[in-house]
Amino acid sequence: MKKSSLHLPLASAALALLLMSAENVRADDAPAGAAEKIAAALPAEAYAKPAKPRKLLIFSKTNGYHHGSIATGKLAFTELGKKTGAFEAVVSDDLSNFEASKIGQFDAIMFLSTTMDPFGPSEAESKTMTDDQKKEALEKEEPLRKSLMAFIKSGKGFIGIHAATDTFYNWPEYGDMIGAYFDAHPWTSDKQVSIKVEPGQEKNPLVAMFDGKSVEFKEEIYQFKAPYDSSKVHMLLRLDPAKSDMNVQNIHRTDSDFGVAWAKHYEKGRVFYCSIGHNDDMYWNPTILRHYLAGIQWAIGDFKVKTDK
Ligand SMILES: [Zn+2]
Repeated sequence: MKKSSLHLPLASAALALLLMSAENVRADDAPAGAAEKIAAALPAEAYAKPAKPRKLLIFSKTNGYHHGSIATGKLAFTELGKKTGAFEAVVSDDLSNFEASKIGQFDAIMFLSTTMDPFGPSEAESKTMTDDQKKEALEKEEPLRKSLMAFIKSGKGFIGIHAATDTFYNWPEYGDMIGAYFDAHPWTSDKQVSIKVEPGQEKNPLVAMFDGKSVEFKEEIYQFKAPYDSSKVHMLLRLDPAKSDMNVQNIHRTDSDFGVAWAKHYEKGRVFYCSIGHNDDMYWNPTILRHYLAGIQWAIGDFKVKTDK
C-alpha cells in the first residue's frame, strides 16, 4: 500500500470536519449588523411588570429544515427580555430541560423554528436504527413529551415561532396544543405579502401595536392544515388575500383562511403562536418585536388580556 492512500481517508475526514464546523458557525451566527438593528428596534419597556422574575426557555432544535434566522431570533428574544425586564431568556437545546424535575424552573417555553421531532433521533440516525432501537428512542422521548404537556396544562406558557407548526407531526396532542400543522408556504420568503389585524381585534393589546393597520413586507407565509380551525383560536393576524399575490404555487385552501398569529388556551395554559419569523429582518421590525413581546408576556401570565378561546 502506498503512503498517500493511507493518509487520504484521514485527510478527507479532517476536511469534512472542517466543513461541518464552518457550516455550524454560519448557522449559529446572526448576519452582520443584526445586533445593532435589533437594539434600535427593541421596545423600551415591557407591557406589564412581571409579577416575579420570569424565565423563558428558548428551544430551537431542528430535526428537519434548519432556518438560518434562528440565530437572529435567539439574539432578538434574548435582548428583548434583557432590555424590557419582561423575562430572562435561557437559550438551550438541552433536552434535559424538559425533564419533570427541571421544567418547573421556567415560566414559559418557546419553540423557535423547531422542525420535525426535536426530541427524537435525527432522520439520518433513524435510517440506521433497528425497529427495537426506534421503539427504545420513542420510549426515551415519552417522559419529555408528557412533562412538556403537563407543564402547559398546569397553567404555564407556550410560544411557537414560525416553524413550530412544522414540528411533531407524529404527536397529535402537540398539534392540538399549538392549533395547526404546516401545509406548505405558498408565499416564499421573497414574496411581498400584506398582513392584516383580525377584524374586530384592532384594540386587542396583543395586536394594538399595529394601530389597526396592515403591514407589508417580504416574508414566508404559511398555509395550515388540520387541526387548524381559525374559529377555535383567538385569531390575531391574517394574511390579507386582497392585497397579497394569490398567483403563487401550492395554495391548497379554497376558503382564503390564512391565519398568521393567534392565542389560545390549553387547559390552564396559554399558547401564543406567530408564523412570522423566516426572514432575519422580521427580528428587527419594531412592530413585530412588540407583537412578540405582548404574546410572550401574555403566555407567561403577566399581561392580562381577555382571550375567549
Ligand atoms: Zn421558513
